[in-house]
Amino acid sequence: MIVGIDLGTTNSLCAIFQDGKPQLIPNAHGGFLTPSVVAILQDGSVLIGDAAKEMRVTQPDRCASRFKRLMGSEEKIEIAGKQFTAPQLSSLVLRSLKTDAEHFLGETVDEAVITVPAYFNDNQRRATKLAGEMAGFQVRRIVNEPTAAALTYGFHDRNAEKHLMVIDLGGGTFDVTIMEVFEGALEIVATSGESMLGGEDFTDRLVSHVLQTVGKQLESAEMRQPLLVSRLRQACEQAKIGLARNEAVDIRIPTEDGLSDHSQVLFQLRSTAFLEMMEPLLARLLGPIQRALRDSERSIDDIDEVIFVGGATRMPCLSDFLSHRLGVRPRADFNPDEVVALGAAVQAALISEDRAVDDMVMTDVCPHTLGVEIMKELGGQRVEGYFSPVIHRNTTIPVSKEGMFSTVEPNQYSLELRVFQGEGRKVKDNLLLGTLHVTGIPPGPAGSPIAVRFTYDTNGILEVEAIVPSSGKRFSTVLAPASTGLTKKEIDKAVREMQQFKFYPRDEVENQRLLLFCERIVGEVSPFQRQELEAAIDVWEQALSSGDREFFESTKAGLLVMLSSLGFPFIGGNETP
Ligand code: ADP
Ligand code: MG
Repeated sequence: MIVGIDLGTTNSLCAIFQDGKPQLIPNAHGGFLTPSVVAILQDGSVLIGDAAKEMRVTQPDRCASRFKRLMGSEEKIEIAGKQFTAPQLSSLVLRSLKTDAEHFLGETVDEAVITVPAYFNDNQRRATKLAGEMAGFQVRRIVNEPTAAALTYGFHDRNAEKHLMVIDLGGGTFDVTIMEVFEGALEIVATSGESMLGGEDFTDRLVSHVLQTVGKQLESAEMRQPLLVSRLRQACEQAKIGLARNEAVDIRIPTEDGLSDHSQVLFQLRSTAFLEMMEPLLARLLGPIQRALRDSERSIDDIDEVIFVGGATRMPCLSDFLSHRLGVRPRADFNPDEVVALGAAVQAALISEDRAVDDMVMTDVCPHTLGVEIMKELGGQRVEGYFSPVIHRNTTIPVSKEGMFSTVEPNQYSLELRVFQGEGRKVKDNLLLGTLHVTGIPPGPAGSPIAVRFTYDTNGILEVEAIVPSSGKRFSTVLAPASTGLTKKEIDKAVREMQQFKFYPRDEVENQRLLLFCERIVGEVSPFQRQELEAAIDVWEQALSSGDREFFESTKAGLLVMLSSLGFPFIGGNETP
């Protein structure tokens, strides 16, 4: 069984293709969305998802989130004094999803399709594949998130004939993709985006605005009063979401030490003020949208439908902004949180040649321009460092293209072909993918031709070949995003290392989440209520360790009632807030 995984900045989901359709897999709390948050408890055990997200409010130094933004970089993330890389933390999230899938299916699951933002570059894709391997998966395919979203729409609407624009605004990334659907054939025409723009930036902007009203700067507050910021961020996140249903919401500004009971200062947020505050972020969405339209040689009027994907597309201001600026009204027939994972499961079905999808075909494009470094003659001088494209961005894949280059010296014996990805005119602005050494060029004048062939397959694996026509000699190398840059041995070691982390027992995770939730609420109620709540938590904790199931269930029920009556209902993973 191949599972389809949407490994998000904020939330991750896992789906399978079963009984002729894609289906989501519930986590330990019974929900489908697993927050991409990792927490390390005092005893060293690892907590993933909702419980870890809860813990992030009260113990931010033992938790990590948003690490997807660091995929492909060397930056380390510290949790409770331990250093991690982004792929390592992602691998813990993936392993948690794997455990959930195995629990759900009652069998081991070791193959996966994992989605990435279309705009992820080679390094980021490699890092994602490595994360999958460290979680114990064989990664069968890395798929672009909007492509996966399109697969969900395409799967359910196979006879459609239209142009679609998919707008995916998640927690940390923004992607826009233009595609054509025609009789079960899905053709991705162009894709564009920004890997540093998402719903979390909207939250951050709000946090920073609220802090300014009390004379604080976000950066310094984050250093000096981390608890104030973590609690305020949580309040702002809720306020932002609340604006989907209300015209105005209140944000409680916590005290210096991160407490916020009912006596705290309130900040009132109106949706009009929110829109104004977010205008600069919203405006940044237009660039990639226009670039994708230009690359696809289409105008907004050619688009029959705009589809929303990603939790942040629920912000009413986004839809208002787009209809105002572009004259479109996006639709979200499928839950915007779920379409990507469901599409990953459809992709898994395509790979395993499931009969339910045998009339579907899909073609994708390469998101970035691929080329080599060249030298230019400028004013009689040779200047290095220019980029010459071989495959332009948004070319349909698989593709094979040849470019002609030449030697620069008479009798030049060898050359180093440096391969880059990106849109910069100079290579310094692009990403170096690898180098191909070409030697044994036969003697000849400067300017002897060298042919360079780039072949890019559906997995985004680039093969580069250089041919010296005068000798017929060929040199080739595979620049594979799929390869991690690590040897098999190094990967095995990394897998073993990550397997050493023990997860908090799955059947106890929900209770742990309730405990962490209570610990957060303790800081939000009035001192009088606090005493009452703490007493109830104490009894429940005793019941938890007593092993008496009945006593435990009844005290838990009492605790849940009390939380509701205090105005803080504990919401199970499968209930929507
Ligand atoms: P990712 O794919 O990056 O994990 P998601 O698609 O799960 O992200 O979206 C998460 C983002 O969506 C978060 O920034 C969250 O605040 C935002 N979000 C979720 N629901 C809403 C809502 N109702 N209104 C506004 N923003 C929302
Ligand atoms: Mg997403």
